[in-house]
Amino acid sequence: MSAPITLPPLPYADNALDPVISANTLSFHYGKHHKAYVDNLNKLTAGTPLEGQPLEAIIKESAGKPDKAGVFNNSAQVWNHTFYWNSLKQGGGGTPPAALARLIERDFGSLDNLKKELATAATTQFGSGWAWLASDNGKLVVTKTSNAELPMTRGQKALLTIDVWEHAYYLDYQNRRPDYASAVIEKLLNWQFAADNLGV
Ligand code: MN
Repeated sequence: MSAPITLPPLPYADNALDPVISANTLSFHYGKHHKAYVDNLNKLTAGTPLEGQPLEAIIKESAGKPDKAGVFNNSAQVWNHTFYWNSLKQGGGGTPPAALARLIERDFGSLDNLKKELATAATTQFGSGWAWLASDNGKLVVTKTSNAELPMTRGQKALLTIDVWEHAYYLDYQNRRPDYASAVIEKLLNWQFAADNLGV
Protein backbone atom coordinates (compact mmCIF):
# COMPACT_ATOMS: atom_id res chain seq x y z
CA MET A 1 0.00 0.00 0.00
CA SER A 2 1.59 3.23 -1.13
CA ALA A 3 1.25 6.46 0.78
CA PRO A 4 -1.87 8.40 -0.18
CA ILE A 5 -1.89 12.08 -1.06
CA THR A 6 -2.33 14.05 2.16
CA LEU A 7 -3.97 17.40 2.93
CA PRO A 8 -1.11 19.81 3.69
CA PRO A 9 -1.58 21.96 6.81
CA LEU A 10 -2.77 25.53 6.25
CA PRO A 11 0.28 27.83 6.46
CA TYR A 12 -1.58 30.09 8.97
CA ALA A 13 -4.51 30.10 11.39
CA ASP A 14 -7.97 30.08 9.81
CA ASN A 15 -8.59 33.68 10.99
CA ALA A 16 -5.25 34.99 9.66
CA LEU A 17 -6.74 36.49 6.50
CA ASP A 18 -9.73 38.11 8.21
CA PRO A 19 -11.42 40.43 7.30
CA VAL A 20 -10.47 40.07 3.61
CA ILE A 21 -11.26 36.35 3.82
CA SER A 22 -13.19 35.39 6.94
CA ALA A 23 -12.35 32.47 9.20
CA ASN A 24 -15.74 31.03 8.23
CA THR A 25 -14.86 31.02 4.53
CA LEU A 26 -11.35 29.74 5.16
CA SER A 27 -12.46 26.88 7.41
CA PHE A 28 -15.04 25.66 4.88
CA HIS A 29 -12.76 26.21 1.90
CA TYR A 30 -9.82 24.34 3.44
CA GLY A 31 -11.57 21.87 5.73
CA LYS A 32 -14.39 20.87 3.35
CA HIS A 33 -13.50 21.74 -0.27
CA HIS A 34 -9.73 21.18 -0.25
CA LYS A 35 -10.07 18.08 1.92
CA ALA A 36 -12.75 16.65 -0.37
CA TYR A 37 -10.43 16.92 -3.38
CA VAL A 38 -7.76 15.00 -1.43
CA ASP A 39 -10.23 12.31 -0.34
CA ASN A 40 -11.76 11.96 -3.82
CA LEU A 41 -8.34 11.72 -5.44
CA ASN A 42 -7.27 8.93 -3.10
CA LYS A 43 -10.49 7.03 -3.79
CA LEU A 44 -10.09 7.42 -7.56
CA THR A 45 -6.46 6.29 -7.64
CA ALA A 46 -6.68 3.46 -5.09
CA GLY A 47 -5.59 0.21 -6.71
CA THR A 48 -4.49 1.93 -9.95
CA PRO A 49 -0.94 2.60 -11.24
CA LEU A 50 -1.38 6.24 -10.11
CA GLU A 51 -1.72 5.27 -6.45
CA GLY A 52 1.28 6.46 -4.46
CA GLN A 53 2.70 8.64 -7.24
CA PRO A 54 3.69 12.26 -6.50
CA LEU A 55 0.88 14.77 -6.98
CA GLU A 56 2.48 16.53 -9.96
CA ALA A 57 3.03 13.21 -11.73
CA ILE A 58 -0.65 12.35 -11.27
CA ILE A 59 -1.67 15.74 -12.69
CA LYS A 60 0.57 15.42 -15.75
CA GLU A 61 -0.43 11.79 -16.35
CA SER A 62 -4.17 12.56 -16.26
CA ALA A 63 -4.22 15.97 -18.01
CA GLY A 64 -6.10 16.03 -21.30
CA LYS A 65 -7.33 12.44 -20.97
CA PRO A 66 -11.14 12.22 -20.96
CA ASP A 67 -11.10 8.82 -19.23
CA LYS A 68 -9.03 10.34 -16.39
CA ALA A 69 -11.01 13.59 -16.02
CA GLY A 70 -11.99 12.86 -12.42
CA VAL A 71 -8.40 12.14 -11.44
CA PHE A 72 -7.20 15.28 -13.21
CA ASN A 73 -9.86 17.53 -11.68
CA ASN A 74 -9.25 16.33 -8.15
CA SER A 75 -5.44 16.18 -8.34
CA ALA A 76 -5.17 19.61 -9.95
CA GLN A 77 -7.56 21.07 -7.39
CA VAL A 78 -5.45 19.64 -4.56
CA TRP A 79 -2.40 21.35 -6.08
CA ASN A 80 -4.22 24.60 -6.89
CA HIS A 81 -5.56 25.01 -3.37
CA THR A 82 -2.23 24.35 -1.66
CA PHE A 83 -0.70 26.91 -4.04
CA TYR A 84 -3.50 29.40 -3.32
CA TRP A 85 -3.00 29.24 0.48
CA ASN A 86 0.67 29.97 -0.07
CA SER A 87 -0.12 32.80 -2.47
CA LEU A 88 -1.79 34.70 0.40
CA LYS A 89 -0.58 35.96 3.74
CA GLN A 90 -1.68 38.19 6.56
CA GLY A 91 -0.40 41.68 5.82
CA GLY A 92 0.30 40.81 2.18
CA GLY A 93 0.02 43.06 -0.84
CA GLY A 94 2.35 46.04 -0.83
CA THR A 95 5.57 46.05 -2.81
CA PRO A 96 7.24 42.98 -4.34
CA PRO A 97 10.88 42.20 -3.53
CA ALA A 98 13.25 44.29 -5.69
CA ALA A 99 14.33 41.57 -8.14
CA LEU A 100 10.71 40.60 -8.85
CA ALA A 101 9.64 44.27 -9.01
CA ARG A 102 12.19 44.87 -11.80
CA LEU A 103 10.78 41.96 -13.84
CA ILE A 104 7.24 43.22 -13.29
CA GLU A 105 8.25 46.63 -14.63
CA ARG A 106 9.97 44.96 -17.60
CA ASP A 107 6.95 42.81 -18.56
CA PHE A 108 3.96 44.90 -17.43
CA GLY A 109 5.34 48.44 -17.35
CA SER A 110 4.37 48.88 -13.70
CA LEU A 111 3.03 47.05 -10.66
CA ASP A 112 -0.27 48.89 -11.10
CA ASN A 113 -0.63 47.48 -14.62
CA LEU A 114 0.01 43.96 -13.36
CA LYS A 115 -2.55 44.40 -10.57
CA LYS A 116 -5.10 45.66 -13.11
CA GLU A 117 -4.48 42.68 -15.38
CA LEU A 118 -4.83 40.28 -12.45
CA ALA A 119 -8.09 41.93 -11.36
CA THR A 120 -9.43 41.76 -14.91
CA ALA A 121 -8.48 38.07 -15.24
CA ALA A 122 -10.13 37.27 -11.89
CA THR A 123 -13.27 39.20 -12.77
CA THR A 124 -13.71 38.03 -16.36
CA GLN A 125 -13.04 34.32 -15.88
CA PHE A 126 -16.49 33.01 -16.85
CA GLY A 127 -17.71 30.57 -14.21
CA SER A 128 -15.36 28.68 -11.91
CA GLY A 129 -11.62 28.95 -12.24
CA TRP A 130 -8.41 30.68 -11.31
CA ALA A 131 -6.43 33.86 -12.11
CA TRP A 132 -2.65 33.46 -12.22
CA LEU A 133 0.64 35.27 -12.38
CA ALA A 134 2.89 32.83 -14.24
CA SER A 135 6.24 32.66 -16.01
CA ASP A 136 6.14 31.67 -19.66
CA ASN A 137 9.74 30.83 -20.54
CA GLY A 138 10.94 33.63 -18.27
CA LYS A 139 8.39 36.23 -19.34
CA LEU A 140 5.84 37.14 -16.67
CA VAL A 141 2.24 36.72 -17.83
CA VAL A 142 -1.25 36.95 -16.32
CA THR A 143 -3.54 34.08 -17.28
CA LYS A 144 -6.87 32.63 -16.24
CA THR A 145 -7.99 29.01 -16.27
CA SER A 146 -11.33 27.23 -16.02
CA ASN A 147 -12.33 24.77 -13.32
CA ALA A 148 -9.21 22.80 -12.30
CA GLU A 149 -6.95 23.81 -15.20
CA LEU A 150 -3.52 25.16 -14.26
CA PRO A 151 -0.38 26.66 -15.86
CA MET A 152 1.67 23.49 -15.36
CA THR A 153 -0.08 21.68 -18.22
CA ARG A 154 0.48 24.67 -20.56
CA GLY A 155 4.23 24.73 -20.10
CA GLN A 156 4.04 27.71 -17.76
CA LYS A 157 5.32 28.05 -14.19
CA ALA A 158 2.77 29.33 -11.68
CA LEU A 159 3.93 32.19 -9.44
CA LEU A 160 0.71 33.31 -7.66
CA THR A 161 -2.97 32.43 -7.91
CA ILE A 162 -6.40 33.72 -6.92
CA ASP A 163 -9.25 31.21 -6.58
CA VAL A 164 -12.35 32.63 -8.28
CA TRP A 165 -14.70 29.71 -7.68
CA GLU A 166 -17.78 31.06 -5.88
CA HIS A 167 -16.93 29.01 -2.78
CA ALA A 168 -13.82 31.20 -2.38
CA TYR A 169 -15.78 34.41 -1.80
CA TYR A 170 -19.54 33.91 -1.69
CA LEU A 171 -19.93 33.82 2.11
CA ASP A 172 -18.04 37.12 2.44
CA TYR A 173 -18.79 38.97 -0.81
CA GLN A 174 -21.85 37.21 -2.31
CA ASN A 175 -21.81 38.07 -6.03
CA ARG A 176 -19.19 40.86 -5.71
CA ARG A 177 -16.26 38.96 -7.19
CA PRO A 178 -14.47 42.20 -8.21
CA ASP A 179 -14.44 43.37 -4.57
CA TYR A 180 -12.98 40.05 -3.43
CA ALA A 181 -10.33 40.12 -6.18
CA SER A 182 -9.19 43.67 -5.50
CA ALA A 183 -9.07 43.10 -1.72
CA VAL A 184 -6.95 39.97 -2.19
CA ILE A 185 -4.61 41.75 -4.61
CA GLU A 186 -4.16 44.82 -2.39
CA LYS A 187 -4.07 43.16 1.04
CA LEU A 188 -3.14 39.48 0.83
CA LEU A 189 -0.89 38.60 -2.12
CA ASN A 190 2.40 37.10 -0.98
CA TRP A 191 4.92 38.60 -3.40
CA GLN A 192 7.80 36.84 -1.68
CA PHE A 193 6.15 33.49 -2.58
CA ALA A 194 6.07 34.60 -6.24
CA ALA A 195 9.73 35.61 -6.10
CA ASP A 196 10.64 32.27 -4.50
CA ASN A 197 8.73 30.36 -7.20
CA LEU A 198 10.56 32.32 -9.88
CA GLY A 199 13.91 31.84 -8.14
CA VAL A 200 14.74 35.55 -7.92
MN1 MN B 1 -11.45 26.69 -4.04
